[in-house]
Amino acid sequence: MEKINRETIKDFRERFPDAPRAHRMAFKRLLSIADQEGLHVRILPLKGYRALIYLDRIGIAEGLTDGQMIYDLAHELGHYIDGCGNILMLPSDDEYKKNCERKADQTAKILLMAMGFSDQEISAWA
Ligand SMILES: [Zn+2]
Repeated sequence: MEKINRETIKDFRERFPDAPRAHRMAFKRLLSIADQEGLHVRILPLKGYRALIYLDRIGIAEGLTDGQMIYDLAHELGHYIDGCGNILMLPSDDEYKKNCERKADQTAKILLMAMGFSDQEISAWA
């Protein structure tokens, strides 16, 4: 399998040398899902967003904590899985947007709970 996000794993490790092993593993596992789906994930100087998905690109903002990055990557994968929330696709309908965000949060939570994180940890990163 092509490892399109190999550099991003390295980037995360360099930014968070003291992150718990479980956090490094979670980020790596989420990136391997992105790899499988052909999604490119990068940590970027985003303004006004914590993270976003645009076509096959996911950007995560610099300056977040390791937990927030894990959560936001799971949330953007949620948008991908749910098929809504890609910034190109967002119509101006606020109710639709809110629904997309709610669904992405639910999917993120399921992914992270499956990796063994508690409700409390996940909520603290959201
Ligand atoms: Zn979102």
